[in-house]
Amino acid sequence: ARMKANHNRLLVLDDEPGICEFVGEVAEGLGFEVSLTTQAAEFRRRVSSFEPSVVVLDLQMPEADGIEQLRFLGETGCDAKVLVVSGMDTRVLATAEHLGRSLGVDMLGTQQKPLMLDVLEATLERALVSQRTITAADVRRGLDEHEFTVYYQPKASRIDGRWVIDAVEALVRWKHPKLGLVLPDEFVAVAEDSDLIAAMTDLVFRDAIANCASWRDAGMPLAVAVTFSPRLLTDLAFPDRLNDLIKEFGADPALLIVEVTESAAMIEPATTMDILTRLRVKNFGLSVDDFGTGFSSLKQLYRMPFNEIKVDSSFVREMERDPEARTIVETVVYLAHKLGMTACAEGVENENTLEILAELGCDRVQGYLISQPVPADRIAEIAASWNDSGRTGLRLAWSRDES
Ligand code: C2E
Ligand code: CA
Repeated sequence: ARMKANHNRLLVLDDEPGICEFVGEVAEGLGFEVSLTTQAAEFRRRVSSFEPSVVVLDLQMPEADGIEQLRFLGETGCDAKVLVVSGMDTRVLATAEHLGRSLGVDMLGTQQKPLMLDVLEATLERALVSQRTITAADVRRGLDEHEFTVYYQPKASRIDGRWVIDAVEALVRWKHPKLGLVLPDEFVAVAEDSDLIAAMTDLVFRDAIANCASWRDAGMPLAVAVTFSPRLLTDLAFPDRLNDLIKEFGADPALLIVEVTESAAMIEPATTMDILTRLRVKNFGLSVDDFGTGFSSLKQLYRMPFNEIKVDSSFVREMERDPEARTIVETVVYLAHKLGMTACAEGVENENTLEILAELGCDRVQGYLISQPVPADRIAEIAASWNDSGRTGLRLAWSRDES
């Protein structure tokens, strides 16, 4: 077997050599090792010899079209992330993306030609895998050394025609002595595959509940959302542990929101339902995370006692330019309201998207436009300046309760 010095290897199939070179140059600039071909047969050979981590595929090829290549990638169990490019309209691209997924291909996305440099770069950058591998032993050491911490990202609700920060989401961070700030995508899966996720989750809940109580005591009753790993949905003692923490800090369970991913909620419906129902009975909020990416049936969703649906950021970030993404967001907002839940849009990055969401009647938003995740001690200042700014009006959300 060949030694793979670089984990990031990109294979391009496009019948136009100019496009191959363009994509190749962009990818090389990002640190990919690159392989280019204009021939379908050669492409198939390189899938096994080059072992790409990313494939860029043209949908329209003279001899064998891109759909056939997608099928090939699915059948051979290739684990590369695939980006489909084509001059065809967004509908065709969206169909190709769905088809790819259903064939078991890890779809990175689609992009319409002519390719835009910055969009291509951002997309490929997302697919870069870290050259370092974090092990369970590293995570255990980090936990022992108290290197994990929690950042908070503000969420704003539509109140009296304005977006007002009235909640935050807790997001775990690792302050690694050598690697600097490490993001959860690099270690949550490792923690889940060992038994370390329970300890990590307890740490996040403890920090979230402590902050929730102290923000409230400071006259700022922010709701705090915590992402709950699917692996813990079998832990029947969890609702009671959470209750103990709430008592310890004198926090208000109604201000705590437990976020569960859509697919996780469906793994073991009976146990999941047991845990979720007990959390609701104890008055905690429940939110379905990343909605739209899993395959839950509406019946299951209806039966689970959720209060909020979070529309996955992949739709929110596309909705400005992709009418289908906008339709999906609109439909999820409608569905949430019909089922008596609120809708929260994740990944709001610009004012335009925020305006569209207000038009669609979305209840809550979260994203870089409002703020990136930050340490707890920065939240008060961010909430005050956002809530005071002209765009959201002059009153603080939590001052509504004051005379
Ligand atoms: P998530 O629950 O969907 O969290 C939202 C992620 O989107 C966060 O990434 C956040 O920084 C990012 N984000 C927020 N606004 C924007 C935006 O406008 N644009 C874009 N492109 N991204 C935005 P983060 O913090 O790296 O977390 C990634 C994932 O790691 C989370 O996705 C969640 O699934 C998992 N995670 C984070 N903290 C915990 C935790 O304490 N426990 C568990 N089990 N999982 C966690
Ligand atoms: Ca979440």
